[in-house]
Amino acid sequence: MPADAPTVNPRQAGRWPRRRLALWALLLLAFVALAGVAYRYAEEAAIDRLRQSGARRLDTYTASLENLLSKYDFLPGTFELNNDVIAMLRHPGDEVLRTQVNVYLERVNRLAGSTSIYIVNLQGVTQAASNWRAPDSFVGDNVAFRPYVRDALRGVPGGFYGVGTTRGEPGYYFAQGIYHDGRMLGVATVKVNIESQEDGWAEAGGKVLLTDAHGVVFLSSVPAWKYHTLAPLAPAVRQELEQSRQYVSHALVPLGLRVVRVLDSRAGIVAGPPPAGGLMLSQSRALVRRNWRMVYLSDLAPARASARAAALLTLLSEALAVMLVLYARQRHRLGRQRRRAREDLQRAYDQLENLVAERTASLQQMTRELRDENAVRRQAEEQLHKAQSELVQAGKMAVLGQLSAGITHELNQPLTALRTMADNARVLIERGRLDDARANLDTISQLVARMGLLTGQLRQFARKSGALPSAVPVAEAVTAALFLVERRIAQERVGFRMATHARDLYALCDSNRLQQVLVNLFSNALDAMEMAGSAPRQLVVDAARHGDRILISVTDSGPGIPAEIRAQLFEPFFTTKPQGKGLGLGLAISEQIVREFGGQLRAESPPEGGARFIIDLPRAE
Ligand code: ADP
Repeated sequence: MPADAPTVNPRQAGRWPRRRLALWALLLLAFVALAGVAYRYAEEAAIDRLRQSGARRLDTYTASLENLLSKYDFLPGTFELNNDVIAMLRHPGDEVLRTQVNVYLERVNRLAGSTSIYIVNLQGVTQAASNWRAPDSFVGDNVAFRPYVRDALRGVPGGFYGVGTTRGEPGYYFAQGIYHDGRMLGVATVKVNIESQEDGWAEAGGKVLLTDAHGVVFLSSVPAWKYHTLAPLAPAVRQELEQSRQYVSHALVPLGLRVVRVLDSRAGIVAGPPPAGGLMLSQSRALVRRNWRMVYLSDLAPARASARAAALLTLLSEALAVMLVLYARQRHRLGRQRRRAREDLQRAYDQLENLVAERTASLQQMTRELRDENAVRRQAEEQLHKAQSELVQAGKMAVLGQLSAGITHELNQPLTALRTMADNARVLIERGRLDDARANLDTISQLVARMGLLTGQLRQFARKSGALPSAVPVAEAVTAALFLVERRIAQERVGFRMATHARDLYALCDSNRLQQVLVNLFSNALDAMEMAGSAPRQLVVDAARHGDRILISVTDSGPGIPAEIRAQLFEPFFTTKPQGKGLGLGLAISEQIVREFGGQLRAESPPEGGARFIIDLPRAE
């Protein structure tokens, strides 16, 4: 473990994540709380907007309703101005008068746009009506039980919303006493249809309802809510309503609106009637003159949806903020890591560069040394080469030295013969024996030619050679070499034999060099046989083709090569010959020459005894 690695303390290890967990939990709580605040705020704002628009609606609706009704307020009071009406009430049996009043009421009703107009006597019985032509005309009906008639008979101008007892049509009833000379004669009643208002409410959207003093809904944009109550009716009230038959036979059960929250005296949040029961903002406005209350209900679902959206948006923004913070932190951390990695890389790069520079320098040094070494080696090679060629030359000279005795003899003999024959030739010429003299001269010529041949061979042998390899006829090379040792062979009575196959064989080498090798091998063989005094003495040369090689073997019947000296045979200056006789260079040089032409020189001990040297050379075409 590295020295600066953090040591793990179990307590610490446990505390860290726990603290972080607590932090996260706190943050989450704060976020949720913030979302809650956003929800509340958005809801309140939406409710505020709803309240404003609801208030405007209520203003409009109440004003338009009041306008409609106020148009008719004065109408019942105008009938006491008509003489026919007064006369009819004073003379109940006059049918002509009744008809006149009926027609009059009919006209006024049409002009005023009211539903019906009728006039009752002090007993509450209808004397004339605008709908007198209709089969269900009010004429003759007793309506004394109707509160507005009752009130009017009592001298209080009546205003009343109720459902008609004859046709069941709801309407607003205006009633006022008809006075003549300060005495009440009857009551004039005008009924106006205000249900048309509902259509306007329904068209504008939103739920509107109109309740009477008891909380009975008698007009509503939601038809099903009509003739329900906002709260359960007290038994006394219920009884009174039944008596007056204000809402005829409607059961007047509670609507089931439940107040959830009171905002102020005129507004609150209510749960709608079952089964839907959605939350609504409820706002109301009193119509003081009629003792009514108009209620406007706005659906809260959109407000709550927008509040939910606000909360969600808040949560999303919070999540985004957290993600941004985390992202920034991660980026910062990554940047730091990247910076560190870059620095490490730079360091490694610098080290590598240093290393490369060092290695390059040492390589250059090595190259220099190698170059120097090469130069030294080349020089050594050159020296070696020179030494070798000098050695070859020395070897030749050594052979020549050895041969010189024989050669001197070889030349002296013909020279003596030449002198004798020349002397003889002169005597023969003087004596006139010209033919004999000519024969002598021929012999002289032959002897000179032979001597020339010998010296030519010697010159060729001694010449330094640097020729390129060429096709050398093996038989010719053997003959030329033999020529140099011929005399020794004869003197030492050595049986020489050139085996068959030797004709038409060509080795790829230099003829002069091959001769040199052969002379060496022949001399060695003769030496060995001479020193051992062996008999009979045999020297056999054989040449044969082996694939693309030419093998020339030189076999003698000497003592052979002892095993202990076989390894040193080709070493320079190795010799077993007495001082002054051998230099120990012959085989070393021969081996070197053969190798130069891509060949091999090796020694063998044939089973029949003696020694055999084999020259192995590439064959020439
Ligand atoms: P040198 O002839 O001057 O001694 P060489 O290199 O030619 O040098 O020969 C090395 C030695 O190899 C000889 O001294 C001799 O001992 C041995 N040798 C060479 N040829 C023969 C042979 N035909 N038979 C036996 N020994 C040989």
